[in-house]
Amino acid sequence: MVSSTERRLENAEYKKNFYVDGQKMFCEFCKHVIDHTKKSTVDSHLKSDKHKNNVVNAEKSKLTHQTTLDMAVTNISEQEQINIALVNAFTKANIPLEKIDKSFF
Ligand SMILES: [Zn+2]
Repeated sequence: MVSSTERRLENAEYKKNFYVDGQKMFCEFCKHVIDHTKKSTVDSHLKSDKHKNNVVNAEKSKLTHQTTLDMAVTNISEQEQINIALVNAFTKANIPLEKIDKSFF
């Protein structure tokens, strides 16, 4: 009998979609047990609409999350870059920073 680990390592598709916990193989996206002993069951699960939907949804939520994170990081660093540029400019021009309207920052 094929063990869950052996089944999972059979091809790249399985590795991407499944994980092994104890003696059982689970679908990463559907969060349920797949009968790893029958290859046909494993293959038909990957082809099922339910599984495909779960993969699409997982990709979507990953994308949304990453985009939000990237945008937040970009916004902070842009604002910081402007502040640094301003401080440098005023320092070079010998303008004391306390004379500058704080709303600039
Ligand atoms: Zn699945």
